[in-house]
Amino acid sequence: MDKTKKHKRRCQGGLPKCKNYVGEYVDVDGVGCCKQCDKYVDENPYDPYWEHMEQEFQLSEEYAELLDNSLVDNCEAYEKAFEKYQANYESWPDMRRRMAKRPKGSSV
Ligand SMILES: [Zn+2]
Repeated sequence: MDKTKKHKRRCQGGLPKCKNYVGEYVDVDGVGCCKQCDKYVDENPYDPYWEHMEQEFQLSEEYAELLDNSLVDNCEAYEKAFEKYQANYESWPDMRRRMAKRPKGSSV
């Protein structure tokens, strides 16, 4: 085994133009990106994360409450409800780790 080769692996994902060496770092998604890029992804969720959050908001208790009070068109009430909903929504870093642990080839 050539151990030095492993240390010289370059970042395979994350930020465009990243030329960092990965070293011993193992990223969440297993794509072979460096620590810096991994952190970047944690701080910048992929678009589907926001899309899902908004879609699921429409099915939430908070949204039902808006409907009950005819406040869906009230920006202030809507934002407040969304904030409350978002606070309880699984955070992106948590979700990312959970999905990354999913066995390969499984559906859902
Ligand atoms: Zn990188």
